[in-house]
Amino acid sequence: MTQAINSPALTYQPSRSLPARLERRVVQWRTASRLPGPRRPIVSFTFDDFPKSAGDTGADIVEGIGGRACFYACSSMAGIQTVSGEMFDSQDIAALTRAGHEIGGHTRSHLDCARAGLEDVLSDISGGIEDLRAMGLRDPVRQFAYPFGETGYGLKRALADRFDGARGILGGLNGPGNDRVQLRAVELDGDEDSLPRALSLLEEAMRRPAWMIVFTHDVRAKPGPWGVQPAILRKLAHAVRDAGAAVLTPSQAIDEITGGAP
Ligand SMILES: [Zn+2]
Repeated sequence: MTQAINSPALTYQPSRSLPARLERRVVQWRTASRLPGPRRPIVSFTFDDFPKSAGDTGADIVEGIGGRACFYACSSMAGIQTVSGEMFDSQDIAALTRAGHEIGGHTRSHLDCARAGLEDVLSDISGGIEDLRAMGLRDPVRQFAYPFGETGYGLKRALADRFDGARGILGGLNGPGNDRVQLRAVELDGDEDSLPRALSLLEEAMRRPAWMIVFTHDVRAKPGPWGVQPAILRKLAHAVRDAGAAVLTPSQAIDEITGGAP
């Protein structure tokens, strides 16, 4: 399975050039669909791509505090082995949806949505959802996560009609005026700053109140480059429970925040 690990979808890095960074800044300023503010603090746990360990250990930890999570599935990764471990399959989709978790879209090919043409991106997104349907997913796909967090203003506008929420990877919380189609998130990974950063954002979410979306990839004792150890995820989950935040899937959160009409 070494071939899969080296496939372009998994080794690609978005451009770090100055024009690309400036463009990213402009895109995040241009809000496509503003959210109202939540009336109470909300936390959502989300997993990208997604590895099997997220669907079992990650889901168990979120269920342990009475919540459900969202899994953004990139369909071309189904059944393969990557640096994040073994990836999801149709049985994971069935088990997770049966338990009340949410499956979101994450494209078919994990393309950089800021670099590809709009029509190509939209057809890759639709293709990813068709693949998930062919794998047996019956729930509506209401959420989407941009691969590498990359997007553009035209795409955000197009997705505002297709999804109830689309998540990026820009750090921060979601409150009044934040973009429903470029939701902010906090990454939980092997970086030793990531748990303290998430805990301080949790405090802020409790105070404002705001909606905090946590994202990671695999959940293993020896995680890959974008994953987290179960003990770290559990610590954050317990802090969320002890703080008294509502633990909702992104669709549950958006329904609550918008009164069901985003
Ligand atoms: Zn991804």
